[in-house]
Amino acid sequence: MKLKQLFVLAAIFATVAFSAQAQQANQHRMTPEMTQTWEPQPPIVTPGRACATVSTAPSDAIVLFDGRDLSQWTNTDGSPASWTVRDGAFFVNRETGDIQTREHFGDFQMRIEWMIPENIEGSGQSRGNSGIFIQGLYEVQILDSYDNVTYITGQAGGIYKQTAPLVNAMRPPGQWNVYDIIWTAPTFRENGTFRTYPRITMFHNGVLIHYNTIVHGTTEWIGLPQVRVHGDGPIRLQAHGSSRQPVGFRNVWIRRL
Ligand code: MG
Repeated sequence: MKLKQLFVLAAIFATVAFSAQAQQANQHRMTPEMTQTWEPQPPIVTPGRACATVSTAPSDAIVLFDGRDLSQWTNTDGSPASWTVRDGAFFVNRETGDIQTREHFGDFQMRIEWMIPENIEGSGQSRGNSGIFIQGLYEVQILDSYDNVTYITGQAGGIYKQTAPLVNAMRPPGQWNVYDIIWTAPTFRENGTFRTYPRITMFHNGVLIHYNTIVHGTTEWIGLPQVRVHGDGPIRLQAHGSSRQPVGFRNVWIRRL
Protein backbone atom coordinates (compact mmCIF):
# COMPACT_ATOMS: atom_id res chain seq x y z
CA MET A 1 0.00 0.00 0.00
CA LYS A 2 1.32 3.44 -0.91
CA LEU A 3 2.00 5.87 1.93
CA LYS A 4 -0.61 8.34 0.72
CA GLN A 5 -3.25 5.60 0.50
CA LEU A 6 -2.32 4.48 4.02
CA PHE A 7 -2.68 8.03 5.32
CA VAL A 8 -6.13 8.41 3.73
CA LEU A 9 -7.28 5.12 5.25
CA ALA A 10 -5.87 5.99 8.68
CA ALA A 11 -7.71 9.32 8.59
CA ILE A 12 -10.95 7.61 7.63
CA PHE A 13 -10.63 4.99 10.37
CA ALA A 14 -9.98 7.77 12.90
CA THR A 15 -13.08 9.67 11.83
CA VAL A 16 -15.48 6.73 11.72
CA ALA A 17 -14.92 6.15 15.41
CA PHE A 18 -16.84 9.35 16.19
CA SER A 19 -20.34 8.80 14.85
CA ALA A 20 -22.50 6.80 12.51
CA GLN A 21 -23.25 10.05 10.71
CA ALA A 22 -19.57 10.64 10.03
CA GLN A 23 -19.30 7.06 8.88
CA GLN A 24 -22.12 7.55 6.37
CA ALA A 25 -20.46 10.71 5.06
CA ASN A 26 -17.11 8.98 4.68
CA GLN A 27 -18.60 6.03 2.78
CA HIS A 28 -19.84 8.55 0.22
CA ARG A 29 -16.39 10.09 -0.16
CA MET A 30 -14.63 6.79 -0.73
CA THR A 31 -13.71 5.15 -4.04
CA PRO A 32 -13.40 1.42 -4.82
CA GLU A 33 -9.59 1.79 -5.08
CA MET A 34 -9.28 2.94 -1.45
CA THR A 35 -10.12 -0.54 -0.16
CA GLN A 36 -7.91 -2.50 -2.57
CA THR A 37 -4.77 -4.12 -1.14
CA TRP A 38 -2.29 -5.55 -3.65
CA GLU A 39 0.60 -6.83 -1.55
CA PRO A 40 1.91 -9.21 -0.43
CA GLN A 41 0.47 -11.62 -3.00
CA PRO A 42 -0.33 -14.92 -1.18
CA PRO A 43 2.16 -17.73 -1.99
CA ILE A 44 1.02 -20.20 -4.64
CA VAL A 45 0.43 -23.75 -3.37
CA THR A 46 -0.36 -26.58 -5.80
CA PRO A 47 -3.18 -28.55 -4.17
CA GLY A 48 -3.26 -32.34 -4.10
CA ARG A 49 -4.83 -34.07 -7.05
CA ALA A 50 -8.64 -34.22 -6.98
CA CYS A 51 -10.54 -37.51 -6.77
CA ALA A 52 -11.93 -38.72 -10.08
CA THR A 53 -15.46 -39.00 -8.66
CA VAL A 54 -17.63 -36.48 -6.84
CA SER A 55 -17.74 -37.08 -3.09
CA THR A 56 -21.11 -37.44 -1.36
CA ALA A 57 -22.51 -35.56 1.65
CA PRO A 58 -22.32 -36.84 5.24
CA SER A 59 -25.52 -38.33 6.66
CA ASP A 60 -26.57 -35.30 8.74
CA ALA A 61 -25.98 -32.69 6.03
CA ILE A 62 -28.65 -30.67 4.25
CA VAL A 63 -27.93 -31.32 0.58
CA LEU A 64 -28.27 -28.03 -1.28
CA PHE A 65 -27.43 -29.48 -4.70
CA ASP A 66 -27.09 -33.16 -5.55
CA GLY A 67 -26.59 -32.81 -9.30
CA ARG A 68 -30.25 -32.80 -10.24
CA ASP A 69 -32.19 -29.61 -9.51
CA LEU A 70 -32.19 -26.24 -7.75
CA SER A 71 -35.24 -26.90 -5.59
CA GLN A 72 -33.32 -25.69 -2.49
CA TRP A 73 -32.64 -22.29 -4.16
CA THR A 74 -34.63 -19.25 -5.26
CA ASN A 75 -33.94 -16.03 -7.11
CA THR A 76 -33.63 -13.11 -4.67
CA ASP A 77 -37.30 -12.18 -5.32
CA GLY A 78 -38.36 -15.63 -4.06
CA SER A 79 -39.22 -17.12 -7.47
CA PRO A 80 -37.69 -20.52 -8.43
CA ALA A 81 -33.95 -20.22 -9.16
CA SER A 82 -33.31 -19.57 -12.86
CA TRP A 83 -29.69 -20.69 -13.12
CA THR A 84 -28.94 -23.47 -15.61
CA VAL A 85 -28.62 -27.12 -14.52
CA ARG A 86 -26.68 -29.42 -16.81
CA ASP A 87 -24.36 -32.44 -16.56
CA GLY A 88 -24.72 -32.68 -12.77
CA ALA A 89 -23.73 -29.05 -12.18
CA PHE A 90 -25.40 -25.63 -12.24
CA PHE A 91 -24.24 -22.44 -13.87
CA VAL A 92 -24.63 -18.72 -13.24
CA ASN A 93 -27.33 -16.93 -15.19
CA ARG A 94 -26.24 -13.31 -15.13
CA GLU A 95 -29.49 -12.14 -16.74
CA THR A 96 -31.58 -13.23 -13.74
CA GLY A 97 -29.17 -12.35 -10.91
CA ASP A 98 -28.08 -13.95 -7.65
CA ILE A 99 -29.69 -17.04 -6.18
CA GLN A 100 -30.00 -17.96 -2.51
CA THR A 101 -30.95 -20.92 -0.34
CA ARG A 102 -34.53 -21.25 0.85
CA GLU A 103 -33.28 -22.17 4.31
CA HIS A 104 -31.42 -19.74 6.57
CA PHE A 105 -28.34 -20.60 8.59
CA GLY A 106 -26.32 -19.46 11.61
CA ASP A 107 -23.19 -21.48 12.47
CA PHE A 108 -22.38 -24.12 9.89
CA GLN A 109 -19.92 -26.31 8.00
CA MET A 110 -20.36 -26.19 4.25
CA ARG A 111 -18.87 -27.75 1.14
CA ILE A 112 -19.24 -26.24 -2.30
CA GLU A 113 -17.40 -27.09 -5.51
CA TRP A 114 -17.00 -24.56 -8.29
CA MET A 115 -15.30 -24.38 -11.67
CA ILE A 116 -14.02 -21.58 -13.86
CA PRO A 117 -14.86 -22.54 -17.46
CA GLU A 118 -11.93 -23.55 -19.65
CA ASN A 119 -12.73 -20.84 -22.21
CA ILE A 120 -12.70 -18.06 -19.61
CA GLU A 121 -11.87 -14.58 -20.90
CA GLY A 122 -11.05 -11.30 -19.20
CA SER A 123 -8.62 -10.33 -16.48
CA GLY A 124 -8.51 -9.11 -12.90
CA GLN A 125 -11.96 -8.96 -11.30
CA SER A 126 -13.57 -9.62 -14.69
CA ARG A 127 -12.34 -13.22 -14.98
CA GLY A 128 -14.82 -15.73 -13.57
CA ASN A 129 -16.08 -13.49 -10.79
CA SER A 130 -18.78 -14.94 -8.56
CA GLY A 131 -18.99 -15.30 -4.80
CA ILE A 132 -20.62 -16.88 -1.80
CA PHE A 133 -22.45 -14.40 0.43
CA ILE A 134 -22.60 -16.04 3.84
CA GLN A 135 -25.80 -15.15 5.72
CA GLY A 136 -26.50 -13.03 2.65
CA LEU A 137 -23.97 -10.37 3.77
CA TYR A 138 -20.35 -11.56 3.88
CA GLU A 139 -18.73 -12.47 0.54
CA VAL A 140 -16.10 -15.15 0.10
CA GLN A 141 -14.73 -14.42 -3.35
CA ILE A 142 -14.88 -16.77 -6.32
CA LEU A 143 -12.59 -15.79 -9.19
CA ASP A 144 -10.07 -17.33 -11.57
CA SER A 145 -6.91 -16.78 -9.51
CA TYR A 146 -4.85 -19.43 -11.29
CA ASP A 147 -2.78 -17.00 -13.34
CA ASN A 148 -4.60 -13.75 -12.78
CA VAL A 149 -3.27 -11.09 -10.44
CA THR A 150 -5.75 -8.77 -8.73
CA TYR A 151 -5.99 -7.09 -5.33
CA ILE A 152 -5.35 -9.82 -2.78
CA THR A 153 -8.56 -9.38 -0.81
CA GLY A 154 -10.46 -9.85 -4.07
CA GLN A 155 -8.81 -13.06 -5.23
CA ALA A 156 -10.29 -16.54 -4.85
CA GLY A 157 -10.89 -17.28 -1.16
CA GLY A 158 -10.58 -13.64 -0.11
CA ILE A 159 -13.03 -12.22 2.42
CA TYR A 160 -13.92 -9.55 -0.06
CA LYS A 161 -11.97 -6.32 0.55
CA GLN A 162 -11.05 -7.44 4.09
CA THR A 163 -8.72 -10.44 4.32
CA ALA A 164 -6.63 -12.23 1.69
CA PRO A 165 -6.40 -16.03 1.73
CA LEU A 166 -3.26 -17.38 3.46
CA VAL A 167 -2.19 -19.01 0.18
CA ASN A 168 -3.36 -19.31 -3.41
CA ALA A 169 -4.40 -22.97 -3.87
CA MET A 170 -6.28 -22.43 -7.12
CA ARG A 171 -6.74 -25.13 -9.77
CA PRO A 172 -6.65 -24.07 -13.44
CA PRO A 173 -9.79 -23.26 -15.45
CA GLY A 174 -11.69 -26.41 -16.43
CA GLN A 175 -10.93 -28.17 -13.11
CA TRP A 176 -13.18 -28.27 -10.04
CA ASN A 177 -12.22 -26.29 -6.94
CA VAL A 178 -13.50 -27.23 -3.48
CA TYR A 179 -14.31 -24.82 -0.65
CA ASP A 180 -14.86 -26.17 2.86
CA ILE A 181 -16.16 -23.36 5.07
CA ILE A 182 -16.66 -23.37 8.84
CA TRP A 183 -18.66 -20.32 9.88
CA THR A 184 -19.36 -18.85 13.30
CA ALA A 185 -22.19 -16.33 13.08
CA PRO A 186 -21.89 -12.97 14.86
CA THR A 187 -23.85 -11.93 17.92
CA PHE A 188 -24.92 -8.33 18.59
CA ARG A 189 -25.31 -5.91 21.44
CA GLU A 190 -28.53 -3.96 21.82
CA ASN A 191 -26.77 -0.82 20.52
CA GLY A 192 -26.18 -2.51 17.15
CA THR A 193 -22.46 -3.30 17.48
CA PHE A 194 -20.91 -6.77 17.38
CA ARG A 195 -20.86 -8.56 20.74
CA THR A 196 -18.86 -11.30 18.99
CA TYR A 197 -17.56 -10.91 15.44
CA PRO A 198 -18.30 -13.43 12.71
CA ARG A 199 -15.41 -15.86 12.24
CA ILE A 200 -14.38 -18.10 9.39
CA THR A 201 -12.11 -21.09 8.97
CA MET A 202 -11.78 -22.26 5.42
CA PHE A 203 -10.00 -24.72 3.11
CA HIS A 204 -9.47 -24.29 -0.65
CA ASN A 205 -8.82 -27.66 -2.31
CA GLY A 206 -7.94 -29.08 1.11
CA VAL A 207 -5.43 -26.31 1.90
CA LEU A 208 -6.10 -23.98 4.84
CA ILE A 209 -6.72 -20.41 3.65
CA HIS A 210 -8.44 -18.88 6.73
CA TYR A 211 -7.95 -19.94 10.34
CA ASN A 212 -10.56 -18.52 12.71
CA THR A 213 -10.38 -15.23 10.80
CA ILE A 214 -12.44 -12.32 12.13
CA VAL A 215 -14.87 -10.80 9.65
CA HIS A 216 -15.21 -7.10 10.37
CA GLY A 217 -18.62 -6.54 8.85
CA THR A 218 -20.33 -6.56 5.47
CA THR A 219 -18.09 -6.89 2.40
CA GLU A 220 -18.55 -3.61 0.56
CA TRP A 221 -17.29 -2.80 -2.94
CA ILE A 222 -17.03 0.84 -1.93
CA GLY A 223 -16.29 1.82 1.65
CA LEU A 224 -15.52 0.13 4.93
CA PRO A 225 -17.22 -2.94 6.42
CA GLN A 226 -20.59 -2.10 7.97
CA VAL A 227 -22.24 -3.73 10.96
CA ARG A 228 -25.78 -4.84 10.24
CA VAL A 229 -27.77 -6.58 12.94
CA HIS A 230 -29.21 -9.85 11.65
CA GLY A 231 -30.26 -13.37 12.57
CA ASP A 232 -29.83 -16.51 10.49
CA GLY A 233 -29.43 -15.78 6.78
CA PRO A 234 -29.29 -17.56 3.44
CA ILE A 235 -26.28 -18.65 1.40
CA ARG A 236 -26.39 -16.37 -1.64
CA LEU A 237 -24.41 -17.01 -4.82
CA GLN A 238 -23.32 -14.07 -6.93
CA ALA A 239 -24.23 -13.54 -10.57
CA HIS A 240 -21.48 -11.04 -11.32
CA GLY A 241 -22.15 -8.94 -14.38
CA SER A 242 -18.65 -9.27 -15.81
CA SER A 243 -18.68 -13.03 -16.40
CA ARG A 244 -19.77 -13.91 -19.92
CA GLN A 245 -18.54 -17.50 -19.50
CA PRO A 246 -20.58 -18.73 -16.52
CA VAL A 247 -18.97 -20.19 -13.40
CA GLY A 248 -20.24 -23.70 -12.55
CA PHE A 249 -21.12 -25.24 -9.16
CA ARG A 250 -21.76 -28.76 -7.87
CA ASN A 251 -21.80 -30.90 -4.72
CA VAL A 252 -23.19 -28.32 -2.28
CA TRP A 253 -24.07 -29.37 1.25
CA ILE A 254 -24.21 -27.79 4.67
CA ARG A 255 -24.28 -29.00 8.30
CA ARG A 256 -25.75 -26.83 11.03
CA LEU A 257 -23.46 -26.49 14.02
MG1 MG B 1 -17.46 -11.73 -6.38
